[in-house]
Amino acid sequence: MAEFFLGVDLGGTKILTVVADHNGIILASEKRPTEAEQGPEKVIDNIYATVLDVLEKSSVRPRDIIKMGVGSPGPIGISEGMIYMAPNLYWENVPIVKLLEEKVKIPVILENDANAAALAEKWFGAGKDVDNLLYITVSTGIGGGIIINKKIYHGVNDGAGEVGHMIIDPAGPRCGCGNPGCLEAIASGTAINRMAGEAIRQDKDTLLKELFINNQEKIDGMMIADAARRGDQIALQIWHKAGRYLGIGLANLINIFNPEMIVLGGGVMNAADLIFRPMEESLKEYSFESNYKSVRICQALLGEEAGVRGAIAVAMGERLLR
Ligand SMILES: [Zn+2]
Repeated sequence: MAEFFLGVDLGGTKILTVVADHNGIILASEKRPTEAEQGPEKVIDNIYATVLDVLEKSSVRPRDIIKMGVGSPGPIGISEGMIYMAPNLYWENVPIVKLLEEKVKIPVILENDANAAALAEKWFGAGKDVDNLLYITVSTGIGGGIIINKKIYHGVNDGAGEVGHMIIDPAGPRCGCGNPGCLEAIASGTAINRMAGEAIRQDKDTLLKELFINNQEKIDGMMIADAARRGDQIALQIWHKAGRYLGIGLANLINIFNPEMIVLGGGVMNAADLIFRPMEESLKEYSFESNYKSVRICQALLGEEAGVRGAIAVAMGERLLR
């Protein structure tokens, strides 16, 4: 019998849905705006529309679909099938699995989006050859997933893997979560932009001022990377600082988990040329030597597809282990 799987990456602005075969090969994909502000029912309708589209494009029959995996922002409850809170979606306590199963008539499994991306890198990306890896995505925020013996480590109530909220500097700036000096507050894309904004306001001698004005007074990571690549000392210091902090975070994780591999993804890694060296320095300085020697630090391979590939991996479940 033919076996096919659906994967849905439910984001704050867009829904990406794919259908894949029993090897996880994607046969068709479809994108659509989430329209989260119009409420859960509208979003369910939008997901359903993408499902119909991918089935039509791939000529897969609905009855040959075994399962549907959904990667969502969280916190979520996996066995409860609930999204407890998703600020990007303006949602609280939405029983997404029940709502989707009623509509699509296919068993649905919910997973946290960063965990899904971690699982995707393990099965389809940089971590294919390893069983134990940590995945960290550095973009506007910092998220992550822990893969132990080829499976996601969820913790007792699905809250594990919040690597962005390990506190690196209690005297540091306040994080969106309320705590001070989380990794996310000092090494994310948002933190890098904040540091550039501070340098401009303090009227430091930096190219960033000119770029800021030419960019309609908006700051973005590309601009800060551009300034650094042109030798701007202030911009270089910002990348250096963020990289050092990221390395401290990774050293903590390396000492705790002794992983075979750490996979780094997210938009900030587009500036790997600027952030990798300071990150490597502090990572080496603070991690135990034997743990340091046995870990490989790799860039993610799946890019924007990581979430939806992860949703497929979630839907395939135990089949991947065969
Ligand atoms: Zn935090």
